[in-house]
Amino acid sequence: MMYPWQQQVWQQLSQRQQHAHAYLFKGQGGIGKRELAEAFVGLLLCQSPQQYQACEQCKACLLRKAGTHPDLQRVMPEEPDKPIKIDQVRALVDFVAQTAQLGGRKVVLLAPAEAMNTNAANALLKSLEEPSGNTVLVLLSDAPSRLLPTVRSRCQQLQCPCPSPEQSLAWLKEQRPEADTMLIAQALHWVGGSPLQALSLLSDEGVAQRATVVDAVKALLKGQQTASQVAESWNKLDLLRVFDWFFAWTQALLRQQLAGQADEQLEPDMHKVLGYLAQRSDSADVLAVQQWLLQQRQKVLGKANLNRVLLLEALLLQWASLAAKG
Ligand SMILES: [Zn+2]
Repeated sequence: MMYPWQQQVWQQLSQRQQHAHAYLFKGQGGIGKRELAEAFVGLLLCQSPQQYQACEQCKACLLRKAGTHPDLQRVMPEEPDKPIKIDQVRALVDFVAQTAQLGGRKVVLLAPAEAMNTNAANALLKSLEEPSGNTVLVLLSDAPSRLLPTVRSRCQQLQCPCPSPEQSLAWLKEQRPEADTMLIAQALHWVGGSPLQALSLLSDEGVAQRATVVDAVKALLKGQQTASQVAESWNKLDLLRVFDWFFAWTQALLRQQLAGQADEQLEPDMHKVLGYLAQRSDSADVLAVQQWLLQQRQKVLGKANLNRVLLLEALLLQWASLAAKG
């Protein structure tokens, strides 16, 4: 599946006469890099492409869709949020050295590339340096700055386009015609502008989770629940999502404190709380919390071993301390 904001980049990519032996698809999370890469992999393997798209019917397409194409290797963490292991990369290197079984190309899809540690990335370099003629490696990354420079420089880098807010809103409205336009705009704001994350928020229990988090934050500030009680009760929530909400709230606090702007429309559920906190805290403390959030978010993204309850408790204690100052 391709998204409307990817049409142009897809045209350029799919109509190339020759392909690089390694690509790095980069761009922020939640803009459809994976879907674009999957379409590209399909095209590279398809035996009879139709108008620069995989036909979805030939033997290669059917095998790919069944997950049994012998010349396609997917390399991902064995568990979500865990590193890609060096053994996985070694298997990839062996795969690249083999002959294609269907006589066409071989393709490797590796994501997310930043999940490789230094040893794994160094093992991959061998395949990037001595490419086998008929193999294309496709790497995906939300955080290309965290890749080894030698890995980056050996790939043809493809910046995946980010939709404009208008494109995102129009697309979300098409996906969820029944949803309230204001709720769509809020969901997009809550996830930092990513349309795919906004869609999953609108589709899964995301809206309910948001209500859970907002209610708990209010209870915490009123002293009805302790930080550790709240942290325990959030064991099913998506950590990054929670971090992104708190980050957006620190942004809203700073806008109120420094520029006198209140996000009544975009944060209706937190508007009063944010107004109260903006009065009671000073910007230096809010900035400190924001810095902390950014650092911890990197750790969450970096798949470090985390104690989620302790991390959430630390977050909530800092948040409560903002109200305790005044
Ligand atoms: Zn095909």
